[in-house]
Amino acid sequence: MIKKEELVIQITIDGPAGAGKSTIAKKLADKLRFLYIDTGAMYRAITYTALQQGIPLDDEAALVKLTTSVNLDMVQQKEAKPKIYCNDLDLTLAIREPLVSRHVSQVAAHGLVRQELVKLQRKLAQKNNVVMDGRDAGTVVLPNADCKIFLTASLKERARRRCLELNAGGHRHTLEMVKADLARRDTYDQNRKASPLIPATDAVIIDTTFLTPAEVVQKILDLIKEKESD
Ligand code: C5P
Repeated sequence: MIKKEELVIQITIDGPAGAGKSTIAKKLADKLRFLYIDTGAMYRAITYTALQQGIPLDDEAALVKLTTSVNLDMVQQKEAKPKIYCNDLDLTLAIREPLVSRHVSQVAAHGLVRQELVKLQRKLAQKNNVVMDGRDAGTVVLPNADCKIFLTASLKERARRRCLELNAGGHRHTLEMVKADLARRDTYDQNRKASPLIPATDAVIIDTTFLTPAEVVQKILDLIKEKESD
């Protein structure tokens, strides 16, 4: 049986930008009828709101104040990724803007901002069976998760996928722009002091470069089955 400390089941999916985390997490959550929690969307929503309010992104105290004062809400959707609201304002599209992508890693590097968002993420995962994606879901947010996955893919492939996804959503990005953004964010996320992007020691690493989303989902479902029969 899957080892459980609580009555809920927690699956974490971490990895660099564009490795397919959100696509896989959403599909997996739908199959299992679990809640999908996109932690990156939370960091993006805080970054967007800080930029709107003119809060300097190096002012950790002001960012913490913002994080604790807003109401972040994720609303699950049947066919699409969850919508994210900040104080009832729908930020689902706005948080994918290049301006937000350029600045989000700077905001996410503040340890005290992370502390606040981690509290919220844990709260959601306490009451629900979840698939949570992010950078530190398996290492920091849910260290006792039942199944931890770390997705990787080549930078070229990650940029190609992210570019398609962004442009399908109405944005206009070139492959070179997206590649540069992903490479910059990876470096920042891997080298920051607070919760750097690294696989949990008990995570299963899956390289998705040559796999379809359906194949990755199947691999994870097989892993879960294996754990259940352990
Ligand atoms: O997942 P996504 O690419 O939307 O995340 C945007 C950024 O938010 C990441 O590049 C990273 O800097 C930050 N992030 C984080 N920890 C998480 C999720 C996202 O630091 N758990």
